Amino acid sequence: MRKNTLAAIAVHLLACGAFAANDALPPWTEGTLDIHQISTGRGNAAFLMLPDGTTLLVDAGAAGDGTAIPDTEPRPNASRTAGGWIVRYIERAMGGQPRLDYAVLTHFHGDHMGQVTASSPASDNGADKLTGITEVGDRIPIATLIDRGDDFLPPPADDKTVANYRAFAAGLHRETIRAGSAAQIVLRHAASRFPTFEVRNVAANGDVWTGEGDRVRHIFPPLESLAKADQPSENMCSIGLRIRYGRFDYFTGGDMPGVPDAGAPAWQSVESAVAKAIGPTDVHVVNHHGSIDPESAEFLATLRSPVMILPAWSPTHPSQDALKRMLATRLYPGPHDVFVTTLREPTKASIGSRVSQLKADHGHIVIRVAPGGGTYTVYVLDDLGEDAKVLSVHGPYTSK
Ligand SMILES: [Zn+2]
Repeated sequence: MRKNTLAAIAVHLLACGAFAANDALPPWTEGTLDIHQISTGRGNAAFLMLPDGTTLLVDAGAAGDGTAIPDTEPRPNASRTAGGWIVRYIERAMGGQPRLDYAVLTHFHGDHMGQVTASSPASDNGADKLTGITEVGDRIPIATLIDRGDDFLPPPADDKTVANYRAFAAGLHRETIRAGSAAQIVLRHAASRFPTFEVRNVAANGDVWTGEGDRVRHIFPPLESLAKADQPSENMCSIGLRIRYGRFDYFTGGDMPGVPDAGAPAWQSVESAVAKAIGPTDVHVVNHHGSIDPESAEFLATLRSPVMILPAWSPTHPSQDALKRMLATRLYPGPHDVFVTTLREPTKASIGSRVSQLKADHGHIVIRVAPGGGTYTVYVLDDLGEDAKVLSVHGPYTSK
């Protein structure tokens, strides 16, 4: 059989979703949007190849880097730090000389930015310790670093990790997120060829996009009017981004909550305002790892996402209640396909039979959006082996 016939069969099999396991993911090509939720077992990290080759990293978590606390299960294994594995992953996905046009930290927690511990090595210039985002940035150049800034409810002054991050960021081009804007994260190389592509800053620091123009509404009451127990948490300040490509919509929002604690005020559901702004969505990253307080029924019923990516690392991810809501077919019709990066054994035991409804219980989760955004396919890659072979293929799904 001629080689191009084989290639044609391979393309056909891919289009049908009948992709052979144990193959490598075919490389990114121009016009395609690739979203990789990387499984490190120690926090969130998503690497995106945008249609013109612009690259974006959302978070680089390394909870308790190099220590046994908190309880984690490093993937593929403990031979490298989480940051080291993220670097390896990006090198494999990009080939050649990796670079990051943008890196965004959704908020200042260790499972999203890294964590300075006694074992964190120093960078070559000695300015900072290497963990999570600072380790990635030490190995891969970052053109623009975006976070929620130092002004609104900054972390405690004695937070070693944040102080270390600021020392690292002092040598980079750092910007504070501009909530509501679609002009801060843009295609860097050939934007005019992909006019339907957009990254919208939906939320940060309680400023939530209204869905009209670049306008935002501040959903937190004046801080001075709030009791100490009711102050917005770090999670509530999370950055949320919507990525749109033609008909395709994706949302990622760090650890923003949606179900306030019993007796807590309703404004603490950041998800509620976000859902009103973004509406129906194709793929969303499950907020706060699917713990007890995200993925409200209102949020789920408004987004109606057929595909949900659940970045889990702790045995509390996801909670039984949140997963039950995500899978609730009464909230909206069609698929409720949930893909989990690192589902721990104790979690499986507590979730019980609902585990069988998951589309994946471990792996790097890759969303490959076809040129123009009309369809997308989900690839689950092996996170236990170093070469990330394809474990399963799902779709193609048609964008809403
Ligand atoms: Zn988190």
